[in-house]
Amino acid sequence: MLPFKLVYSDDYYLPIGSHVFPAEKYKCIHDRLLTSGIAEPSDFVTPRPATDQDVLLVHTPRYVEKLKTGTLNAREQLELEVPYSPELVSAFWLAAGGSVLAADHALNDGMAISIGGGFHHAFPDHGEGFCMIHDVAVAIRCMQRDNKIRTAMTVDCDVHQGNGTAVIFSGHRVPSEPLPSVPNFMMNPSHPAPHGIRRRSAHAEDVFTISLHQQNNYPVFKPPSSLDLNLPDEMGDGEYLACLGDALSLGLSKLKPELICYLAGADPYREDQLGGLSLTIAGLKERDALVFQIAKAEGIPVMVTLAGGYALKLEDTIAIHCNTVVAAKEVFGGKG
Ligand SMILES: [Zn+2]
Repeated sequence: MLPFKLVYSDDYYLPIGSHVFPAEKYKCIHDRLLTSGIAEPSDFVTPRPATDQDVLLVHTPRYVEKLKTGTLNAREQLELEVPYSPELVSAFWLAAGGSVLAADHALNDGMAISIGGGFHHAFPDHGEGFCMIHDVAVAIRCMQRDNKIRTAMTVDCDVHQGNGTAVIFSGHRVPSEPLPSVPNFMMNPSHPAPHGIRRRSAHAEDVFTISLHQQNNYPVFKPPSSLDLNLPDEMGDGEYLACLGDALSLGLSKLKPELICYLAGADPYREDQLGGLSLTIAGLKERDALVFQIAKAEGIPVMVTLAGGYALKLEDTIAIHCNTVVAAKEVFGGKG
């Protein structure tokens, strides 16, 4: 039995037909975790969909209404890059509920993993890049609303920049400053926000956002996170892990959060179809372990979501995501 919960439902499946996004990956990962003995049935908890009130903590009433009534315009449908359907809306509401449940369990157990979620390209008023609503932001805002946390940190290791996350939590920026392993050109210049728009919501400055991503990749426009690392093409394991370590040190020196939300994207993998970094499967597991070790050492609970993964071989994407659970098990000390 694992010392933490895995949040999963067969209904995480995204009904998007034949697509570069392998919507069947969630069930494959669930099944592999069981058949390999990494997890057992009692390790899993089943989420319920987020409520509309939960979703409205992040998204505009107008956008939520458009989703609920199927009235996105043609441009909005295109930007989403997945075919709209009411069933897809239900799947995203469930993903958000799964992240809320994972955040709750993480606060109790120190760690929880949703075998889904990580839809970091969703904005308050529109969706982009396969992401309809921002499950992680909904989870953070729910925890804040319910007075379970005041502060949080997102650590986004998907190969694509977390543009939605950056905009939703745009209150907390770090000016460029030297990091030992990170050449200056990889870091965003500081973007001092004009007076008056810094605080976009009551909690804006209580969430610190870190994104490690490939510079030459989607999204073209990268709104500033609190801390962005713009990595060059083909970066491999060693340099990446050094950058990640530095980013976490700097981030935690600015804010010691009550919850870390880790987006464990599988797409920095060297054989990813939508990524251009060169991490190995072993390197990606080390990446996960590094985040977990630092969080554990600091005594900060971690909630994990899977985010992207488009390896040429689905098998590899599944292995990378399963390894995230293995890394958590090793760091948090599961038996057997
Ligand atoms: Zn991605």
